[in-house]
Amino acid sequence: MKNQYEVIIIGGSYAGLSAAMALGRASRKVLVIDSGKPCNRQTPHSHNFLTRDGETPAALASIAKEQVLNYPSVTFITDKATDAKKTDVGFEIKTESEELFICEKLLLAAGIKDIMPDIDGFADCWGISVIHCPYCHGYEVKGQKTAIFANGDAAYHYSMLLQQWTKELTIFTNGKANFTEEQMTKFEKHNISVVENPIAKLEHKQGQLECIVLENGERYDFSVMYAKPEFKQHCDITEKMNLLNDNGYVKVDEMQRTIAEGIYAVGDCTTPMRAVAAAVASGTMAGAVINNDMAAASF
Ligand SMILES: Cc1cc2nc3c(=O)[nH]c(=O)nc-3n(C[C@H](O)[C@H](O)[C@H](O)COP(=O)(O)OP(=O)(O)OC[C@H]3O[C@@H](n4cnc5c(N)ncnc54)[C@H](O)[C@@H]3O)c2cc1C
Repeated sequence: MKNQYEVIIIGGSYAGLSAAMALGRASRKVLVIDSGKPCNRQTPHSHNFLTRDGETPAALASIAKEQVLNYPSVTFITDKATDAKKTDVGFEIKTESEELFICEKLLLAAGIKDIMPDIDGFADCWGISVIHCPYCHGYEVKGQKTAIFANGDAAYHYSMLLQQWTKELTIFTNGKANFTEEQMTKFEKHNISVVENPIAKLEHKQGQLECIVLENGERYDFSVMYAKPEFKQHCDITEKMNLLNDNGYVKVDEMQRTIAEGIYAVGDCTTPMRAVAAAVASGTMAGAVINNDMAAASF
């Protein structure tokens, strides 16, 4: 049947493609549905992935897609999965272009969506000079005067961790600071100042931060800022199927199985440990586990 697959993967970026490769190499009939919006698409260079350090995110994905599609049992379509329904034999997936597909196993690999704070310039700088992860982008800006856009424990954690990259840190809490006395003592010890006044805008040139401007008119020259914005699941099927834990991630076991029979999940939608290598590793695991579960059922 035309629209019938053994496995459907929702999300065809690093995690989804990695699972598709394992499944393609097991000659499983796989459909990858991808809407083409990976979370790192605005970042100029991706780091910390062996053999591809410093490659553009798009090049990484395109090499991956080319290699995965060498396996003839794998099909890739550009579309958005809008709904998933459990059936007697598996799942029915609907897409934005009104297609209906069926499969035995479902793999969720749709990542998360970062929600940009309502600060002029923030979204333009995201992934370029407003960065979330020192392992991904910290080396390139090490030793520089660095802003942290966070409050409470998140700001404290960044302050501790970033010492390995720079000693010149300023925390912008964008409102009343929320720190314990012990935390403030640590900040004083390490000459970390805390700015509470709300930020009005980030001045930048093509995403390269130049100045943080506060609502009271104060200006702070910075060329790099760390921030961990709020997020939501990129594909709301994960919520509709009640698969999330209290932190907003799809709950999986160490084999990438969710709490629902026949549904697996990989990559950023499952974990705060965001890295291409981690996404790829989870995809490799899920591909093998799905094939294993199908082989066991039919043996
Ligand atoms: C700004 C930024 C910079 C980063 N830099 C680095 C770096 O330098 N090094 C590093 O190792 N990591 C980096 N990361 C982390 C890394 O990009 C992620 O860990 C990785 O992309 C996760 O892969 P994923 O496949 O889980 O999700 P994504 O790469 O986010 O891909 C999810 C895919 O699913 C698709 N999708 C979503 N919903 C649907 C739907 N309903 N139907 C069909 N398709 C759907 C999306 O369009 C997308 O193509 C960065 C992250 C960000 C945000």
